[in-house]
Amino acid sequence: MIFETHAHYDDEKFDEDRVELLSHLLRENNIGNVINVGASFRGCQDSLKLAETYDNVYAALGIHPEELEDFTEENLSWIKKNATNPKVVAIGEIGLDYYWIKDDEGRAKQRLWFKRQLELANEVDLPVIIHSRDAAEDTLNTIVEYNTHYNKKGIIHCYSYSKEIALEYIKMGWYIGVGGVVTFKNSKKLVEAVKAIPIESIVLETDCPYMAPVPHRGERNSSIYLKYVAEKIAELKEMSVDDVERITYENALNIYSKCKRND
Ligand SMILES: [Zn+2]
Repeated sequence: MIFETHAHYDDEKFDEDRVELLSHLLRENNIGNVINVGASFRGCQDSLKLAETYDNVYAALGIHPEELEDFTEENLSWIKKNATNPKVVAIGEIGLDYYWIKDDEGRAKQRLWFKRQLELANEVDLPVIIHSRDAAEDTLNTIVEYNTHYNKKGIIHCYSYSKEIALEYIKMGWYIGVGGVVTFKNSKKLVEAVKAIPIESIVLETDCPYMAPVPHRGERNSSIYLKYVAEKIAELKEMSVDDVERITYENALNIYSKCKRND
């Protein structure tokens, strides 16, 4: 069984087959638990609904750095209130994304809400899911400070930085989320990172509907394609696909400790 640690089944690209996928198709295709991750506030509300509807679906609640436009204190209170729901297992995705945001003010706003949501995760005692793009240094500094203060863990999702930085996160007991990108021809940096870190620090994720692995690159992604990611990691780490699936499943249960096994 595979543990899907990061999906967006609330996305409209799943409007036609969401029910089939979540009620039985994923399970029939070797997918155990699914974490549906909120990015916008609406996405958080929808993630919670999905988690309450399907036994093997859990929710993460948090606001993505590119979705901060209309984010309010009330939204944050709503997240805090619902974090105690038994099906809410993490705060995320939260973090920094400097790719489109070049101005100091915009970046400062991201850092502010990132820290507020980290504080919240500590208060409600949940792990975090980190989104970070073009912000390697600020993200690492923030997490080192957070981890030192509170000793709280998380996942660096859709990992895109160097192996050296990956090792810094692993030293703190954090996990690295690996998805379809590892199968891409141009993913040299991620391949190096996966080779350098222990399998005990990796979790499998799609970020679906995005980031479909080869041989489905460019199509709509779903957790069913995680087998290609597991196969690629097995090849890189010279181990069996079964071991990759089994160990990463245990890793995910370790970090998302509110989840039942469902494998
Ligand atoms: Zn995501």
